[in-house]
Amino acid sequence: MEFLVRSCYKKQGGYAFARKADDIAREYGIDRIARLASNENPEPLSPAALKAAEDALRTVNRYPDEKANVLMQALRNHYPHEHFVTGVGMDGVIETIFRTLVEPGEKVTISTPTFSFYALSAMGQGAGVVTVPREADFSVDPKKLIREAKDAKVTVLCSPNNPTGNATGIDTIREILEGIEGLLFLDNAYVEFSDIDYIPLMKKHENLVLGRTMSKVYSLAGLRVGYAFTPRWLPPWYARAGTPFAVNSVSMAAAAAALADNDHADRYIAHVRRWRKRFADEIKYSVLPSDANFVMIDVAPHTSDEMVGELARKGVVVRSCRSFAGLEDHYIRANVGEDWENEQFIAGINAV
Ligand SMILES: *Cc1c(COP(=O)(O)O)cnc(C)c1O
Repeated sequence: MEFLVRSCYKKQGGYAFARKADDIAREYGIDRIARLASNENPEPLSPAALKAAEDALRTVNRYPDEKANVLMQALRNHYPHEHFVTGVGMDGVIETIFRTLVEPGEKVTISTPTFSFYALSAMGQGAGVVTVPREADFSVDPKKLIREAKDAKVTVLCSPNNPTGNATGIDTIREILEGIEGLLFLDNAYVEFSDIDYIPLMKKHENLVLGRTMSKVYSLAGLRVGYAFTPRWLPPWYARAGTPFAVNSVSMAAAAAALADNDHADRYIAHVRRWRKRFADEIKYSVLPSDANFVMIDVAPHTSDEMVGELARKGVVVRSCRSFAGLEDHYIRANVGEDWENEQFIAGINAV
C-alpha cells in the first residue's frame, strides 16, 4: 500500500537521530557513555519547573488552556516583546509557520548547511525548496542569499547555526530583512549561548520571526516546548492554521516556571562558555569558533562516520555531520556535557 505515501517523503530521507547511548553501551560493554550528540542540557530541569509540572499533572482530565496564557505571560515577563506563538517544540512552530504562510508550489529559501527539519517541513507543505550555501568559512553572504530569497514566501536562517556553531551579525540580518519581500524565520535555538540580541530588530521589521526552544538551555527537551517572537499580524493566523491544544498543560506549566528560573539557565550558560574554550584549546583537531552549546570539529583526514565510530568505542556519542547536506564529509558535532563527559570526550578524540 506504500504507493499511497506522498512523493516528497520518498525523495528525501527523514530526520537523522543520534545513536542511542544504551545500544552503544551494550555493544562495547562500557558503563558510562558520554552523550554529546543532541545538544541537550545534561542537568535535569529546575526544581521549580518540576514542581509546576507535577501540579499541572493533577489537572490533565481537562484540556489545556487554548491560549497558553500561563506560558504567554511568562514570556512577556521575561522578554521586552509582546507577540508570541507556541508549539510542540520549535519544530512544531516551524511546521505551523509553513502551514500558515506557504501555498503548495511557493518558494522557501534555506541557508545551508543547516538543521534538516526546515526542508522536510517545507516540502511537506508542498513548497519548492531552494538552498543557498554559506561561504567557505560558513559565514552568510547577504547579497547572495537575497538573490535567491527575494521572492521567497519564507526564508530560513539559523543563528547560531546548527551544525557550524557560528552566529550571523545583526547588520547582516538587517540587510536580509530589507532585501526580501517575504518572511525571515531566524532560528535562535542556541542564541542564549551567544552575545547577540536580535530582539531589537522586531521593533522595525514586520517580516521577522525569531524561533526559540525550551529544549536546550532550559533542560526541557522531553517536554517539547517551542515558541517564537512574531510581528503583531501573525498570531491570529497561526492559531487558525495550527493544531488546537498543541502544547500540553504539563509542558506549558513547566516551561513557564523554567523561564522564571534564571539561575538554572545562567549556570549552564557559564558552564558552556568555560568548556567551549577548553574544547578549542585542548582538542588536537580544528575546532570551529562557536556561539552555541556545541562545537563543530574538522576531523580530517578521518571521515565523519569513522570518527563517530572511534569515539563510540571509547564511550562517547557525538553527531556525525555527514547527513547535513552541503557539508564535506569530515566534520563532527559535539555538545558541552557534564564535566566527566567532556573530559572523556577530549581524551577520546585526542587518542584517535
Ligand atoms: C534543537 C533545535 C531546534 C528545535 O528543537 P525543539 O526540541 O523542537 O524545540 C530547532 N532548531 C535547531 C537549529 C535546533 O538545533
